[in-house]
Amino acid sequence: MINNYGFTPAMTPADAQGMPARVLAVHKDRYELVCEHGLCSGRLKTSLYYSDSLENEEFPAVGDFVLINYNSGDSQIIKTLERKSLFSRRDPSADKEQAVAANFDYVFIIQALNQGYKNFNINRLERYLMAARQSGALPIIILNKADLIEDCAGYIKEAEKAARGVSVYAVSAKTGLGLDLLAEYLKPGKTLVFLGSSGVGKSSLLNAVAGEDIMDINEVRESDGKGKHTTTHRQLIMLSSGVMIIDTPGMRALGMLGADGVSEAFADVEQYLGDCKFSNCEHKSEPGCAVKAAIASGELTRERWNSYLQLRSEARYTDERIALMRKKKELHKKWEKEARSGKKKSGGRRDY
Ligand code: GDP
Ligand code: ZN
Repeated sequence: MINNYGFTPAMTPADAQGMPARVLAVHKDRYELVCEHGLCSGRLKTSLYYSDSLENEEFPAVGDFVLINYNSGDSQIIKTLERKSLFSRRDPSADKEQAVAANFDYVFIIQALNQGYKNFNINRLERYLMAARQSGALPIIILNKADLIEDCAGYIKEAEKAARGVSVYAVSAKTGLGLDLLAEYLKPGKTLVFLGSSGVGKSSLLNAVAGEDIMDINEVRESDGKGKHTTTHRQLIMLSSGVMIIDTPGMRALGMLGADGVSEAFADVEQYLGDCKFSNCEHKSEPGCAVKAAIASGELTRERWNSYLQLRSEARYTDERIALMRKKKELHKKWEKEARSGKKKSGGRRDY
């Protein structure tokens, strides 16, 4: 059973005790699990996860393999096994990293090819790619909605250029075009995550790949090209093919990576920002604040404003991290170049 979920005995340290299980969903302090007895639920063993020591176990995320003391009621989770891949984001309330998905094999980075609202965006592609590579899993680029354009060769080339060494596929979730080429990733025991802005067709692709309707698809609002989602479901989904998909709200938020992704998704909120009386308004208690007025009049809901603030702060953090990685990469390139030219010089000397 648990082996079908991608578990291999080598994941357990030799001296570890307990029964292996995989995390299917996280609800506050309760975890939905699967183990050799089938579906079960568990809670963290306090002394191992919440003690003052620095040796605390990492909090499990969806996709994590854990060890449990099995109990037909609530099992006790006693260890988080080492992860082979991880997506995390900053938990703004605790100012620390929060794991959102673990142990996936492939990251499907999805963009749409319909030209209408510039879904195909190399800059954003690079961002997703950086996040995917950093996660430790293998990125795969999927250009969806290929049915809407005449010729996708140019797009494929452009994506390949931006993402050296990464496979790029043009597909259509709607017509099924190109989906057969994804078979090589859709093997039993493998776990996938889908990364991409809202509206690019993640849910449609998931349904197409699953061969069944697992995800609600909400028709795109033509005005801004965004799909709206209300789906709630188990967060690690086992398809009848034996392939698993992780889809969590946290993953959805990752889909908006970066500040311009957030701006795009929250245009309805950002329209107020320029209208405050003071240009440096923090939208807290200043007089003449357009945001507060919009909330007071019911034009803008407080929840929408709060999720905007949260995602924006996360996005800034991601942007900073990505800028840092870019810098590192450039430095590395520079060093390599210097080292190479250094070698040439000394090689030259030997020749003379
Ligand atoms: P998500 O927000 O990324 O999960 O996107 P959805 O799967 O909800 O799809 C958003 C919209 O795009 C829906 O209206 C889908 O019917 C449409 N869509 C998805 N895939 C395709 C495709 O391959 N071709 C076309 N023409 N439309 C698609
Ligand atoms: Zn204001």
